[in-house]
Amino acid sequence: MISAQHRPTVVTVNLEHIGHNLQQVMQTLPEKTQAWAVVKANAYGHGAVEVANYLQKDVAGFCLSNIDEAIELREAGITAPLLVLGVIPIECVSLALKYQIAVTVASLEWLEAVLAMGIEVAGLSVHLKVDTGMGRIGFRDSQMVEKAIEKMSANQMTFEGIFTHFATADEKDDEQFEAQLMCFKNMLSKLSQQPKMVHASNSATAIWHQETVFDAVRLGDVLYGLNPSGQTLEMPLHIKPALTLSSSLVHVKEVAAGSTIGYGATYQTSEQEWIGTIPIGYADGLTRKMQGFKVLVDGQFCEIVGRVSMDQVTIRLPRKYPLGTAVTLIGANGEQQITVQDWANYRETINYEIVCLLSDRIARRYLKSE
Ligand SMILES: *Cc1c(COP(=O)(O)O)cnc(C)c1O
Repeated sequence: MISAQHRPTVVTVNLEHIGHNLQQVMQTLPEKTQAWAVVKANAYGHGAVEVANYLQKDVAGFCLSNIDEAIELREAGITAPLLVLGVIPIECVSLALKYQIAVTVASLEWLEAVLAMGIEVAGLSVHLKVDTGMGRIGFRDSQMVEKAIEKMSANQMTFEGIFTHFATADEKDDEQFEAQLMCFKNMLSKLSQQPKMVHASNSATAIWHQETVFDAVRLGDVLYGLNPSGQTLEMPLHIKPALTLSSSLVHVKEVAAGSTIGYGATYQTSEQEWIGTIPIGYADGLTRKMQGFKVLVDGQFCEIVGRVSMDQVTIRLPRKYPLGTAVTLIGANGEQQITVQDWANYRETINYEIVCLLSDRIARRYLKSE
């Protein structure tokens, strides 16, 4: 999708805040801990290339979810280690080798399929994934892990790392977390060969389960200044949201009492009202569910009235404002602010989903000190 560079609707990413958030987490962990920044899904909507360029000197590497995301970083000149956390198609192993991208091996079956192709695999860097209870991908049996290690070593693949992922690190109840941790430690104790890197911590684990830091942490949500638990657990760190979303009024009118606004005529004015239009809609990630939610104009909350269209949305203004007046959808305006978490609460979802769904059509701008 082409990003609309000539539209006032803009996501502004403060890269310094991302750097600050990284430091906040790392300063609480043992000094030798490696930081891996998770920049999958275009760095949760913040822009993977820009975030990776900015963080490159401060992290050990970057985690992506698929090989195309990793290749995007390589082609942008990122030379840091890259790890794809998902299962890549077996026919893409040569690409991983070519671009020096570490891959996740999550089953013996996948590894055997790669070897059966007879392609060159020597030097391929591998992290074995262990499923300790998340239930998505990974080995569940230590004998299979051993077989994988043997096959890797017989084919000169590099056993770089082993890792797992927790399902409930962001929750109050630790029972499932402890069971997964025990399972992972048990797997590790049976390894005949130790890889360079053992890792288990996502943001929530790095923040609320510091005892489980092995060699490295994989930080996503917290880097972007978001609380991975939503509002469940209190954030012990001073993190700063990295992203704001703003636009401006492109149309302002006064309408008579009884006028209807938008598709379906779902909103009818009860008195004379000032209605403003903003160029953002559900194609940008402002979903139709956000009718009734608020935006900020001149430090005041203004309700989204009428249906959210694909490209435009209408708001009720307290008075006439000139065309071009700034509108804040995420961020501070005057004394007030709207957070990503406010959007998530209104949409009954998690903050991750909000930022990931801010579509590529919205232009991104970056703040950093030179
Ligand atoms: C996405 C992901 C992470 C990062 O999770 P956050 O909660 O955003 O820190 C870490 N590890 C794996 C395997 C992931 O898929």
